Amino acid sequence: MQIPDVKLMNGTTIPQLGLGVYQIDDEKDVKLAIATALESGYRSIDTAAAYGNEAGVGAAIAEAGVARKELFVTTKLWNKNQGYESAHRAFDESLEKLGMEYVDLYLIHWPTDKQHICDSWKAFQEIYASGRARSIGVSNFQPMHLDVLLEYADTTPMINQIEIHPYNQQQAARKYCQAKDIVVESWSPLFQGGELLDDNIITTIAHTHRKSAAQVVLRWHIQHGLVVIPKSVTPERIRENIDIFDFELRDEEMSMIDTLDRDQHVFEYDQRPLS
Ligand code: NAD
Repeated sequence: MQIPDVKLMNGTTIPQLGLGVYQIDDEKDVKLAIATALESGYRSIDTAAAYGNEAGVGAAIAEAGVARKELFVTTKLWNKNQGYESAHRAFDESLEKLGMEYVDLYLIHWPTDKQHICDSWKAFQEIYASGRARSIGVSNFQPMHLDVLLEYADTTPMINQIEIHPYNQQQAARKYCQAKDIVVESWSPLFQGGELLDDNIITTIAHTHRKSAAQVVLRWHIQHGLVVIPKSVTPERIRENIDIFDFELRDEEMSMIDTLDRDQHVFEYDQRPLS
């Protein structure tokens, strides 16, 4: 299965589809999910310090036997560790837990306040310069947060990972990032497998293509140029979620899904400007 690559502003690339491992806590589940994903052709894994599974992810990757240089591994700095020294320390801990010499992408998990974000970014730039993170970026940053960071930053964040699915399309953030050449990555791309997958428009389109609702939603992300990281622990679903490169949604179908936007979030989060 050939997954397209998306080019980042520093010339490196990220596979357009990867496996998310949020809420996969049990070590056996992590192992099975990652082994299944790598066997099926996934090459990108998205974890975070906050998920508490970096050690399991690292062990599962090592066991699967795919060369490290073929993989794209993302982890994230948790909020309580934001700050200059603490970000450096947290990054070292993440690398140690993963059992890796570098990650492909290190993200600030959430915007908090200006001081913490800028101090963390200073550390991120040094980590990037050292080669231990091949790219750096942010997550859950709205344009108002990026404005603050961009004014401070010498190195522009290369990726912004935000909640995107047809019920929450984040047009403003996407437009802003596109203008700044920041790649947008969709978290909870399936809206956590809830009501979206029963939506009439989605299931009707799925029926036409003899594909599942999840495959249609993932295809919608891909055709909008978004990077996706659907999560599953179920081998059949992991395989299903990568089996989306043999069909294409028509323009009218893309437009129909575009009409579903209703600003519906996975959970409520703070979207105020940085203090
Ligand atoms: P998701 O939208 O990927 O949904 C996952 C759920 O959808 C699964 O638990 C399962 O119930 C269902 N599902 C998966 N494949 C399916 C299929 N083929 N058919 C039917 N149902 C299916 O939600 P998520 O896990 O919240 O997000 C994906 C990844 O994004 C996470 O694992 C994590 O890596 C990342 N994430 C990042 C942040 C952040 O703040 N940066 C927040 C949440 C998630």
